[in-house]
Amino acid sequence: MFGFLKRTRRPQANLTEAELARRLTAPGYRCACCNEVLDAPNAVRLRPFGWPNPPAPRPDADFDSSGDIVTERYARRGRDLLARAHLPIPVKGTDDHVFISVWVNLSTGDFARFRSAQGRGEADRLGDLNGWLSSRLPADTGPVLTKGLLVPVADGAMPVYWITEPKHPLHPAQHDGGLTAREIAALYEDLGEQDLVQHLKA
Ligand SMILES: [Zn+2]
Repeated sequence: MFGFLKRTRRPQANLTEAELARRLTAPGYRCACCNEVLDAPNAVRLRPFGWPNPPAPRPDADFDSSGDIVTERYARRGRDLLARAHLPIPVKGTDDHVFISVWVNLSTGDFARFRSAQGRGEADRLGDLNGWLSSRLPADTGPVLTKGLLVPVADGAMPVYWITEPKHPLHPAQHDGGLTAREIAALYEDLGEQDLVQHLKA
C-alpha cells in the first residue's frame, strides 16, 4: 500500500553527460537517493553463454573436482574451459573505462597454462592468448562466435579481453574511443542492471 514510498527518486531530467560519466566511473559513488555506495565501473557480471542458471561460484581451489563447475575465475562446462575476464569499454570524454565481467573460451592447452601461471601470479609472462568471447553482449547477440585476445595480468589479477572480430557491435566502441555515459547506461540496462542505472541517475 505504501510501496510508492520506497520508489527511488525519479531520474533527473537535467543530469548532464559529464555528471553521469563521473558517477559511472567513480570507484565508490554514493547514491543521492539511498546513500548506498555503488561500484558502477565493475557492476556487470555476465554468465557463461548457453548456461541460463549457473550455480553460485565456488572457490577456485575446487576447480579440479569433476563435472561442470563455476568458480570465481574459471568455469568448465562439458568440454568448454572458460576464464573470467574484464572487457574494458572507454567512457567518452574521460580517461576512464567500465569493465564488463565476461567469460572467455580458451583452448585446453592455453587454459591449463593460463590457470597455472595465474596461480603463480605470473600470467603476464604468457603474452596474449586467443580466446572466444563466451558471454552475450549486448544481450540480443546471436550465437557467440566472437574472436578476441585475452591479455593476462600479473599478480593473479583478472585478465583483460579485447574483441578483435570487427563485426561485433562493441568492437568499434572498444577500439575507437568508447561509448558515451548514456550509451553505457543503456548497455547496462540491456544486460540486466536496470536497478543500478536507476540509482546512478537519481
Ligand atoms: Zn539509490
